[in-house]
Amino acid sequence: MIVLPLGVSSATPTAVRHLPSVALWRDGSIFLFDCGENTQMRLLQAGVKRSKVDAIFISHLDGDHIFGLFGLLSTFQLQRREKGLTVIGPKGIKKMIDSVFNVAQIDLEFPVKYNELKSDFDHEVVMEDEEFYVEARPLKHTKFCVGYRFQEKDKPGKVDAAKAAEAGITEDAQYKALKNGDDVTLEDGTVVHSADIVGDPRTGESFVYVTDTEFCENAIRLAENATILYHEATFGEPLKEKAEDTGHSSAQDAAIVAKTAKVERLVIGHFSARYSNQFLLLKEARGVFEKTWLAYELRPIFTNPELEKEIISPRIEIIDLKDKKAQRPQKTFKPAAKRKDGFKKKRFKRKPANARYYKSGESDRPQKSRFSKPYKRPDEGQGKPSPHRPSKPLPITPRTPFDDFDRF
Ligand SMILES: [Zn+2]
Repeated sequence: MIVLPLGVSSATPTAVRHLPSVALWRDGSIFLFDCGENTQMRLLQAGVKRSKVDAIFISHLDGDHIFGLFGLLSTFQLQRREKGLTVIGPKGIKKMIDSVFNVAQIDLEFPVKYNELKSDFDHEVVMEDEEFYVEARPLKHTKFCVGYRFQEKDKPGKVDAAKAAEAGITEDAQYKALKNGDDVTLEDGTVVHSADIVGDPRTGESFVYVTDTEFCENAIRLAENATILYHEATFGEPLKEKAEDTGHSSAQDAAIVAKTAKVERLVIGHFSARYSNQFLLLKEARGVFEKTWLAYELRPIFTNPELEKEIISPRIEIIDLKDKKAQRPQKTFKPAAKRKDGFKKKRFKRKPANARYYKSGESDRPQKSRFSKPYKRPDEGQGKPSPHRPSKPLPITPRTPFDDFDRF
């Protein structure tokens, strides 16, 4: 699975951060968690087709988490979507969507299936498929808010093709039977045992989405042993009181949840607009839970990092500015060596090859103009490859990490 943060701001957007939304890619389907403004544009910018969205999970009905939904549904309508869509969220979500489209006099022509959660529920499986299920639990915010866990079911072990061939397995049906755990009897009466050919079952991966909540027990329950926990970190510890007043978590709270729930990786997002340097929050969280990452918009996170195939490698290094030993060596200024004869070496500016100096008053001096032709390299257009330009034309469609998994 691939987790793709689309917006990591809280409450209001900033010049560089958009309103909350996270996409989860799994086997060609997209599951959206919250849908702030700009969600559909961010999907486009990430190279993800909006038509692949199969279900939308809304945490709560605050505008910054849901106002992108109307635009997205409207685009589905314009794209003549026929495929059904599941919308899951707190009670009132259907009324909200119906009111907007009633006033706009738009009849959504594709089927929308709602699953509304009442504020008194404890925990519930809100979506289930052959291969995965989604569990919801209420969180602790100023209004009713829900956290979600997307859990893949355990997968059967892999069939060792070489071993199977050696044992005399030739037909597809025999492979399937072995994969399902059944033993196969060959024509000559030999029994091939499934346990000898098929590896151990693989544990399903999981993604947990917890946002707009104070530190709470249900966040820990949802996140138990999760592969990735996406948790809000609206404030830092110095603003702990503000976090409590507004029903939010600090970066440290998020890290305590991750540590207690023993997750594999914590990703923090939903940053207050006051933090232009979100590394402060990362540093705070890493003080409690080392395996913490910052959510970057459009920077995909693979639940299985081995699948990244070096498409994107982290280039960020955190340096503690107070720790002098950890600082990079600074460039030191070396005074020029003195000449033995006591004279200082004079420095001359090199004259450009085609430069011409003019005396004042010379009339053929070229006039600089705002409208003069743009500078052209001397070798341009003469078949000589420029060292600054790639010899091959760049592909028209940018390469995205999804390319290896699915062709949209
Ligand atoms: Zn929020």
